[in-house]
Order: sequence, then C-alpha cells, then structure tokens
Amino acid sequence: MAKILVVAEHNGTTLNPSTAKCVACAAQIDGAEVDVAVFAASPSEIAAEAAQISGVSRVLTVAREENGVAIAAILAPQIVALTSGYSHVFGPSTAFGKDLMPRVAALLGVNQVSDIMSVEGSHRFKRPIYAGNAIVSVEAPADSTVVATVRTASYQAAEGGNSATVESADVEVDLPTHTRFVELQTGQSDRPELQVAAKVVSGGRALGSEENFDLIFKLADKLGAAIGSSRAAVDAGYVPPETQVGQTGQIIAPDLYIAIGISGAIQHITGIKDAGTIVAINKDEEAPIFEVSDIGLVGDLFNIVPELTEMLG
Ligand SMILES: Cc1cc2nc3c(=O)[nH]c(=O)nc-3n(C[C@H](O)[C@H](O)[C@H](O)COP(=O)(O)OP(=O)(O)OC[C@H]3O[C@@H](n4cnc5c(N)ncnc54)[C@H](O)[C@@H]3O)c2cc1C
Repeated sequence: MAKILVVAEHNGTTLNPSTAKCVACAAQIDGAEVDVAVFAASPSEIAAEAAQISGVSRVLTVAREENGVAIAAILAPQIVALTSGYSHVFGPSTAFGKDLMPRVAALLGVNQVSDIMSVEGSHRFKRPIYAGNAIVSVEAPADSTVVATVRTASYQAAEGGNSATVESADVEVDLPTHTRFVELQTGQSDRPELQVAAKVVSGGRALGSEENFDLIFKLADKLGAAIGSSRAAVDAGYVPPETQVGQTGQIIAPDLYIAIGISGAIQHITGIKDAGTIVAINKDEEAPIFEVSDIGLVGDLFNIVPELTEMLG
C-alpha cells in the first residue's frame, strides 16, 4: 500500500493552498494513506489547518526554532529522518518545493519525479516537458522511495472538513550549519498572491515603463486581482521578478487571466495553460495570445485599459 508523506508549505502561520493540492494528487494513488508533515517553529495552528484537509490521515509536526524559516538545507535532513515507512514523499512544484525536494531526493539517493500532472499508477506519472508542449509518462523504480513535486496548476485543492489526528514527531538529526537565514526581502502588497489568486491581471513589454504599469495595478485593484507580467516586462525593470508568469516564472491556474500587451510567446503560455478564462488585449490581431484566449480585444491598451477600469466603477 502507498504511504505518502506530503511536506506542508506555509508562511509560519498559515498553510499554503499548495499543500491541499499535493494531497489531492496523493489521493489519486490507489489505497493511498496520506500524512502531512509540518516543519515550523510553532506548528500547531498550521497543523490544525492541515488536519482539516480531506484525505489526510495524520499530521506530523516538527517544532524546532531552526524551522522558523523554510530553508531547504535545514528541512531536507529532517524530512529524510521522517520518511522511514513511507513509499512516497510529495511537495509542491512551487519555489518552496522546487528548492527543497531535490535535496530530499539526493539524500535518499533517488531521482526526483518533477511536476506530476496526473497519476497513472503508484510509480507512474504524467508530467509536461518542452514548456508544456509534450506530456510524458515517467516511471520510478518500484523498490525505491518516490520523491516528487506536484504541478499545483493541475490540481484543485482537496476539500476541508476533515479532522485528522495531529502528532508531534521526534526528529533527532544534526542540522547543517553551512546555510543560515539572514534576511527576507519581499515586496509588500495587499493584493492577492499570484500563485493562488482567482483573478490575475498581467502586463507585458507594451506597457513601456514602470509608471505605465500603474494602468495594470488600477485595473487589478478594481477586480481584486493579483499582478502578473511577461518576462520582457520583468527584464525591462517595469515590475519585480516575482510577478513573472511562464516557463521561468510562475505556473498559475486562475479562474480569470487578463493578458495586456503580451504577445503570447510559448514560454508565457506555458504558465497559463490551466487558466479558466483568458482575456487578451493586444493591438496586433495576429498576436499568438489570441489563439489561446477566450475573449480577445484588438486595440491600443492605453485606450482600452483605462476605459475598462472606469467601467468597473
Ligand atoms: C528559455 C526561455 C524562457 C522564457 N521564460 C519566459 C517566461 O517565463 N515568461 C515569459 O513571459 N516569457 C518568457 N520568455 C520570453 C518569451 O519568449 C518572450 O520574449 C516574452 O514572453 C515576450 O514578452 P511580451 O509578450 O511582453 O513582449 P513582446 O513579445 O514584445 O509583445 C508585446 C506585445 O504587445 C503588443 N502591443 C504593443 N503595443 C501595444 C499597445 N499599445 N496596445 C496593445 N498591445 C500592444 C504587441 O502587439 C505585442 O504582441 C522566455 C524565453 C526563453 C528563451
């Protein structure tokens, strides 16, 4: 029987929805028993949230001062110490999981299965390659632990309403001292987080300057949306890198994605393949973004966006 340990992603106080998506993926494996591990300085509130996720049998907490900030080098040996008896260890394909899970795989001496988008068997999974242009089936050896990241855009979060048991786990391992937390620099924003937002308004190179991006912010604020961008907009310095959507940015699956002045390069599209409704605003009616959009507005964004924003009141 598959026994799966899902590593919880959180910000120290609340659980990231990526965890419930990993649980949804794990639950697709026949007969899976799914536990969630919460590594934190004070894990109790986060663990209580994790215990509500449907399909979770147990929540294991590892309370340790060093776990106050998620550092892959610190977490990985603790995760490995917990894996005895588990056939699978899953983490999300977010920055957190992409940083952490390869270390877990390396310490366990196995290859990582990356970006699971569907489960074909306990050791066989589908994943995208070539920026999502092809899907391959990958099979992990049946006799070794499966360490995998889950493509969160491919899964709906498992529902709540559960009351799994919460247990504290004893993890006695020496932690490395070569990596330590110095400081977290992050943009302050009251807007929804790009990775989990239901609506995203995204701007591209066509905005032409950091100041003009204000048009995107105003529309996003009217809609209660997160801010996204193309890589060209990031490279030009209009917006910070954490807003970048696409192959080398974030892979997202909002209900509504509005692409403004974005051409629709394949590397951008790969980040929005699972979006519900895609609206594109572009002055070039031949722009590739219109091939994937549900609603297309052909015209100058500098006319259309202020008008749209005003219409929203
Ligand atoms: C390995 C690799 C990884 C990459 N990863 C990513 C990634 O993660 N994300 C990403 O986005 N890109 C990525 N790229 C870059 C990608 O190939 C494109 O270069 C980039 O997406 C283009 O950004 P853009 O659409 O903003 O700019 P452009 O391609 O320059 O498009 C601008 C668009 O705006 C339209 N426009 C211009 N003026 C107006 C106006 N006034 N009103 C309305 N429309 C207007 C134009 O018609 C055009 O379609 C990657 C590239 C490589 C090689």
